[in-house]
Amino acid sequence: DLVRTPAAVADAERWTAHNYHPLPVVISEAEGAWVTDVDGKRYLDCLAGYSALNFGHRHPSLIAAAHAQLDRLTLTSRAFIHDQFATFCRGLAELCGKDMVLPMNTGAEAVETAIKVARKWGYQVKGVPANAATIVVADGNFHGRTTTIVSFSTDPSARDDYGPYTPGFKIVPYGDLEAMDAAIDDTTVAVLIEPIQGEQGVIVPPPGYLQGIRDLCTARGTLFIADEIQSGLGRTGRTFACDHEGVVPDMYVLGKALGGGIVPVSAVAADASVLGVLSPGSHGSTFGGNPLACAVGTEVVRLLGTGEYQRRSAELGARLHTDLSALIGHGLIAVRGRGLWAGIDIDPSLMSGREACERLAEHGVLAKDTHGSTLRLAPPLVIEPAELDWAVERLAAIL
Ligand code: PLP
Repeated sequence: DLVRTPAAVADAERWTAHNYHPLPVVISEAEGAWVTDVDGKRYLDCLAGYSALNFGHRHPSLIAAAHAQLDRLTLTSRAFIHDQFATFCRGLAELCGKDMVLPMNTGAEAVETAIKVARKWGYQVKGVPANAATIVVADGNFHGRTTTIVSFSTDPSARDDYGPYTPGFKIVPYGDLEAMDAAIDDTTVAVLIEPIQGEQGVIVPPPGYLQGIRDLCTARGTLFIADEIQSGLGRTGRTFACDHEGVVPDMYVLGKALGGGIVPVSAVAADASVLGVLSPGSHGSTFGGNPLACAVGTEVVRLLGTGEYQRRSAELGARLHTDLSALIGHGLIAVRGRGLWAGIDIDPSLMSGREACERLAEHGVLAKDTHGSTLRLAPPLVIEPAELDWAVERLAAIL
C-alpha cells in the first residue's frame, strides 16, 4: 500500500509552482531501468527523464566518473581552463564529426546558443543586412522554454501570455519540403528542426525530409541546425537521428543524455567556419563546461563510442515496435518512432493519455502522456528484452 506517497505528493503541490502535473509517484531510489518510490514500490521507467537517462539510472561508469571528479575539482568557470575541458570537447567534437563544440548546461541554452551563432554567422559570413536575419522552424516544434524559443512555438500552452515575442522566425509545416523551400530567402540564416519531433508525439518525418533540408540549405547557403537534444545520443538506434538518412547538419544541438542523467550538460557542435564567429565576451555561461559536467560527459562520449547503446536501441526498438504494432486495433490506433522510442496513440474513446499513464503506474510502469491520448515510451537503453516485453504486456492489460 502507498502510505507515504499521498503526504509527499501534497507537500510537493503546496510548495511549488504548478508548471507540471506529475503522476502521483514519489521516487527515492533508482538503478538501471528501475525506480523505487518512498513506499518501496518498484516501477519500470519507460520515460527515462525524457531521454536524459539513456544509459539508465546511476550507470556504474558514469557514477564512478562523477565520484572521482567530485573528489578533485568541480568548478573553475570559463575564466580559467581545467584539465577535463579539452578532453570532453575533443571527444564530443569527434563523435559529431565536427571541428569544435561549445558546452552549455540545459537544452534550451544550447538552442539559444545555436540561434545566436546562426545570426552572427548570417551577418558576418553570409552578409545578411543588420537585424534582418530569419530562421525557419517547423510547426509542432519543441526546442525549450526561453522567451525567444517560445516565441516560435505553435503550442498555446507553452506560448500564451509570454509576449512580446522575439521576431525573426518563420514557421512552416513539419515534413513539407516545398513550404520550407518557399520560406527560405536571402535573409535566412538557418533552418532549425528536430529530426524527429519528440514532444509533439514522436513524429517521424517522411523519408527524404532530412536529406531534402540538407540539399535546400546547401543550395541556398543557409545553416542546417538539427536539434538532437531528445533524438540524439543513441535514442533512435543510431548516434544521431540524422544518421538514418546519412545526413550531416551544420550544427548539432545536444543535451539531455549528454549529462548521463547526473548533471545538466548541453552543447552545440559545428565546424570552425560556423562556431568561429564567436569571440571572447560574445557568449558564455558560468557553469557551461564545468569540470564535473566534462568528466561525466567524457564518459558518456566513451559509452557511445562503443556502439553498444545504439545497437541495443536498434535491436530492442525493432522488438518494441513489432509488439506495439500488434496492439493496433486492440486499444491503440497508431504507433510511431525509431529505436527504443515510440509515440503511441490510444483510442480516445477508451481513456485519455493521462488516465493511461495513471493506470500504467498502478501496474508498475512509468510513462508520460503528451497531447491528448498520445503516450511516449522511451525506456533507458539498458532495459532487458524481458523487461521490455513485460512493459508491453502491462500496456496491453490496461488497454
Ligand atoms: N529541444 C528538444 C528537442 C527537447 O526535447 C527539449 C526538452 O524536452 C529541449 C530542447 C529543451 O531542453 P531543456 O529542458 O534541457 O532546456
